[in-house]
Amino acid sequence: MRTITKQWLVVLLSVAIIPPLVVCTIDEARAQSILQEHLKNAPSASQETMAHDAVSANGHEDLDATLWVRFAAEYKAITRQTYNAAARQLSAAIADQNWTAIVDNGSTTTSPSRPNRPVCVIMDVDETVLDNSGYQQELILNNSSFSGESWARFVNAKVSPAVPGAKSFVDTCRQMKVTVFFVTNRDFRLETATRENLISEGLMRPSDPDLILSKNERPEWTSGKSVRRDSIAATYRVLLLVGDDLNDFLFVKKSNLQQRTQLAEQYRHYWGQRWFMLPNPDYGSWEIAVTKGSKNSTAAEKTRLKMETLSGK
Ligand SMILES: [Mg+2]
Repeated sequence: MRTITKQWLVVLLSVAIIPPLVVCTIDEARAQSILQEHLKNAPSASQETMAHDAVSANGHEDLDATLWVRFAAEYKAITRQTYNAAARQLSAAIADQNWTAIVDNGSTTTSPSRPNRPVCVIMDVDETVLDNSGYQQELILNNSSFSGESWARFVNAKVSPAVPGAKSFVDTCRQMKVTVFFVTNRDFRLETATRENLISEGLMRPSDPDLILSKNERPEWTSGKSVRRDSIAATYRVLLLVGDDLNDFLFVKKSNLQQRTQLAEQYRHYWGQRWFMLPNPDYGSWEIAVTKGSKNSTAAEKTRLKMETLSGK
C-alpha cells in the first residue's frame, strides 16, 4: 500500500476543511449568508421561553413547510402515492356510466349524473400539478410575504417543475382518452405563462385547445371553483377531481374550520375514490379559515389569530 506523504496529507486536509460556501452556487451562497445573519440574531438557550417571539423575529413562518416540500423524500412519496392511486381509478370510472366526481353541495343546480358524455378529469394547477415551492423559497430568503406583483413575476418566469407523479398521471389520462382540464385560481392574465409552463413540463401539449379555466376569465368565474366545474360538467362526465385545497372539490367559501371539517367528513367516501388531495402545508383556504377570514390583516394580527386557534380559544 502506498504511503501517504506529508504533502498529500496537507492537500487532503485542505479539501476536507474547505468551507461549504466555496463550492456553493450563488443561491446557496445567498442562503448561507442569510442563515448566518439569522444565527447571529438567534436567541440563546436561556431565551427559549420567548420561543414564539424568537421564531417570528428570526425565522419565516413558512420555513418548515417549504423545506418539507422542497427536500423531504416523504413529500415526493405522498404525491406519487396520490397520483398512482388516482390512475388506478380511471378504468372503473370510465366503465361506470353513472360515475361522476361532481357533487351538489348547495352550489349547483346541475344533475350530477352524466352518462354517454366524453370523459374528463379536473385538476388544479398550483401545488397540484406545478410545484411553486421555488416562490416560497424566494419569499423566505427575502424575508417577505405573498404579493400579487412578486407572484406574477414568478409565474411569468415559467420555472415551476411538475409535482412528482403528475406527468405520469396526465400521460395515463391521455392514453385512456380522458381529457385533462385545469381549473386554477391564477388570474386569467397569467394564463399564457401558465400554459407555457404546463407544456414545458409535459402536462399539456402545444396542440392542445384551451383546457385552462382561470379566475376572472369570465365574470362569473370567481375564486370559488364550483361554477367552473359545473361549466365543464355541462358537456363532460367528470371522473376525478385532483387538488390541494377543499375548494378544488367543494363549495367552501367563508366556511369556518368546523364547517370545513364537517364537509370533508360528509364526503368521506369520495377521498381516494373520486377525489384526490395533494399535500400543501404552505398555504390554502384552510389558512384563511384559521385566521377567521381576515385575509388582509397584518402579519402580526394573523399570527395572533393562529396562536388563538392553536390554543383553542
Ligand atoms: Mg392549488
